[in-house]
Amino acid sequence: MAHIHQHNNKNIFMNLRILFLSIILLITGILLNYLTEKTLLNDSIIIISMLISGYNIFLSGLKSLLRKHVTINLLITIAAIGALLIGHLEEGASVVVLYNLAELLEDYASDQTRKSIKALLKLKPDVVKILRDDREIETSISDTVPGDLFILKPGDRIPLDGKVIEGYSNVDQSAITGESLPITKRIGNDVFAGSLNLDGYLVARATKMAYESTLSRILNLIEEAEESKSPTETFIDNFSRWYTPTIIILSIFFAIIPTFILKLPLVDWVYRSLVMLVVACPCALAISTPVAMVSAITSASRYGVLVKGGSYIELISKTKVVAFDKTGTLTDGKLSVKEVFGSNQEEIISYAASLETRSEHQIASAIIDKAKNLGIILKEPTNFKSYPGKGVIGRIDEKTICVGNQLLMNDIGIPLELQQNNGTVVYVSKENQLIGKITFTDNIRDEAEPTINALKKRKFKIVMLTGDNQITAGNVANNLELDGYYAQLLPEEKVAVIKSINDKVVMVGDGVNDAPALAVADVGIAMGVIGSDVALETADIALLEDKLDRIPYIIDLSNETMTTIKQNIALSIILKFMIIMLTIPGWISLWLAVGLGDMGLTLFVIINSLKLSKIKPF
Ligand code: ADP
Ligand code: MG
Repeated sequence: MAHIHQHNNKNIFMNLRILFLSIILLITGILLNYLTEKTLLNDSIIIISMLISGYNIFLSGLKSLLRKHVTINLLITIAAIGALLIGHLEEGASVVVLYNLAELLEDYASDQTRKSIKALLKLKPDVVKILRDDREIETSISDTVPGDLFILKPGDRIPLDGKVIEGYSNVDQSAITGESLPITKRIGNDVFAGSLNLDGYLVARATKMAYESTLSRILNLIEEAEESKSPTETFIDNFSRWYTPTIIILSIFFAIIPTFILKLPLVDWVYRSLVMLVVACPCALAISTPVAMVSAITSASRYGVLVKGGSYIELISKTKVVAFDKTGTLTDGKLSVKEVFGSNQEEIISYAASLETRSEHQIASAIIDKAKNLGIILKEPTNFKSYPGKGVIGRIDEKTICVGNQLLMNDIGIPLELQQNNGTVVYVSKENQLIGKITFTDNIRDEAEPTINALKKRKFKIVMLTGDNQITAGNVANNLELDGYYAQLLPEEKVAVIKSINDKVVMVGDGVNDAPALAVADVGIAMGVIGSDVALETADIALLEDKLDRIPYIIDLSNETMTTIKQNIALSIILKFMIIMLTIPGWISLWLAVGLGDMGLTLFVIINSLKLSKIKPF
């Protein structure tokens, strides 16, 4: 329902006062009528109560009538006026006041679910201390451009995305990523707007405009996600489209037929048809899905899980297979060089590291780290080309160098058999001659095992897809007791494997080199996307940090959300149906229809949905 988004805090307080006043007046009027006899004064009090709490409703109801459009406000207006005409003033007023209360509850709920987003917004400082000609000046963040140097003192909230160029400090990124451990930032590391500089002094170079920061992107994504409609919500919208007019027509028959054909008393049946009109209001039904979805999406964002829309929550609850990428996903993102084999180890590392300066792969950073430790000066490669799933080729010192796995070596005419070795290995060739090989330690993440176990407990089938060799892949799969694995896959082969799985599948990968597989999976989850804009934008669900335990969390949250939505919808429909049935013999009064069928239901839907925020990662 559109009105979820329209209210701000001020409005809520204003409406609360009006509502409060009208409730007091209504109760006073009803009590006076009850205690003394019905007087004009008492009735006037009730009418005033109805007018002040119904002012906006009547206005919008009449407007919608002019546009020949049936809205809930119009239904309530007709019910109120109808009740007044047949002498049920007190109930007419109750209808308006209770409906108002239900609306306010709805605003309150949407406000609650959005609270953590507002908290995120507050994280953006407006001013930044920048260095200009070695002088520190304070300026608005919107006046900065990429390349500006800014200063972070201990305790400063970081205002912009940037790269550290001086200093050393611990930074708390928990507000944006949900990760509570501080992260040490050194020269070359990225800092993100919204995080908190804890104890050191840092100088950073702005890498983005203020409005393009990771935090701004996250906020935009959450907002878009909350506005997007899931299939269930679309279904409910369509359902309401015929439900409301049907009940209205029914209520017109109700008012006319018994009276004119069966000669039953007009007032009774008009009253019953008004009850029907009130029941036609699909308020609780309309919010049954969005309130739960928004609650879930916002709650997930608090743990660094960005869900791009309610439809993924719905899809996840239907998946049966989880496919993991290996390197950087099940295993530690940080590889390190274990051993270098070959006659001239320095030459091997020097060539390999120089070439890898152009690659973003975890293998590349491991080799470069090794070269730095050995104090090797790196050279600029030319004609660089990357072959995803195989390796890299380029020229250094006028010589063609290849670094990659046996597939790449085979491609350039070096026959290689897969050797029995533990772990990831790459070969290095110079001018099409093998000069050595490098092995890596690639540790399985600590959370991998509990995560896999948690998924197994939830009856998921778990497979691993990797570009790495059969032996390494087999070892990891055995260690973690996976249901299956596919090794030596090129990126397009990963896509084919995902497509060949018949059940709905979640693919978990590292976002950059797994993007095609993430895209074809029913739900693509990218890990550790903070700092990588592409991954942040393209994944269906993005984990800001490398946290595997978020996978069972988001699955639990999705399942729980779908259960909540089903409860909300079932109760809404059953209760409305019961009220309609009880209306026929005249057992339901107008105020009970609003109190139970609208306000009570709305309250139930809200409380039921807000409890989703109690679900936490293990
Ligand atoms: P995974 O699917 O396990 O994440 P990738 O598809 O990224 O692995 O890579 C598969 C294999 O391709 C690696 O194990 C490595 O042998 C080779 N490879 C990929 N990129 C590089 C690179 N930059 N340098 C050397 N080898 C690489
Ligand atoms: Mg990978």
